[in-house]
Amino acid sequence: MTTETQKGMALVTGSSRGIGAGIAQKLGALGYHVLVNYVSNEAKAIEVVDKIIAAGGSAEPLRFDVSNEEEISSAFELIAKKGMPLQVLVNNAGISEDSLILRLKKDSLDRILQTNLVSAILCSKEAAKLMMKARTGSIIQISSVVGEMGNAGQVAYASAKAGMIGLTKSLAKELASRQIRVNAVTPGYIETEMTGALTEAQKLAITEKIPLGTLGQASDIAEIVGFLSSNASKYITGQVIGVNGGLYI
Ligand code: NAP
Repeated sequence: MTTETQKGMALVTGSSRGIGAGIAQKLGALGYHVLVNYVSNEAKAIEVVDKIIAAGGSAEPLRFDVSNEEEISSAFELIAKKGMPLQVLVNNAGISEDSLILRLKKDSLDRILQTNLVSAILCSKEAAKLMMKARTGSIIQISSVVGEMGNAGQVAYASAKAGMIGLTKSLAKELASRQIRVNAVTPGYIETEMTGALTEAQKLAITEKIPLGTLGQASDIAEIVGFLSSNASKYITGQVIGVNGGLYI
């Protein structure tokens, strides 16, 4: 695993805003050189980089579309040439498009699976190549509580997020002998642009079902990712850690 003194790079996919931005800042504070990935929002990614640097850390923006296999390959070629080990990969980039199954369009299904699940498998594969040589690393999937408990109207999204759990457990078994750990975090409802589309009435209805009585914050996810990236979690692999206010117990 990573040592606490010598930190290499941490790639956080989709870290220009929301949960990913919180994770990037946490990993920056822990001393990693953070690669702040985004697809379209360059200004926001630069804002995150600037915040990390202003706090005494080190970071740079890295644009690539996680739903595009060629862009993933090129990005990892670039990462391999940076002269620093890649120690952490956080597969956080994701999209949600809700639809009841009878209205689910094939192109939406493809987009959701490609952006949330296939991307995580392909990025994990590329990261594993680099981490296997170094015999150290931590890969963290940002799945979702709906991958564990299901949700009407989210068949495609929940399938992708449940798939990330299968990915986590299988890859943890494949990579453990190389001292590479793979874990998943399953956030509940976290206040970001993704949940910003919910109406106040919907938020109230959700909050009523959460035992701890509030929606979560990006920092709640960032803290656990910081822990899973560090030596403090060196004996934890293949686990799915719920951060959901008790929504799924
Ligand atoms: P968000 O606010 O919508 O941010 C999404 C991030 O992903 C942005 O940085 C976006 O980049 C990036 N992204 C989207 N498509 C991409 C692509 N094709 N290639 C590269 N980057 C891409 O989302 P969030 O709420 O922070 O969610 C982050 C992750 O947590 C997602 O995987 C989501 O499914 C999961 N999650 C969220 C919640 C929640 O309640 N918010 C709950 C459970 C799980 P641009 O800025 O460039 O568009």
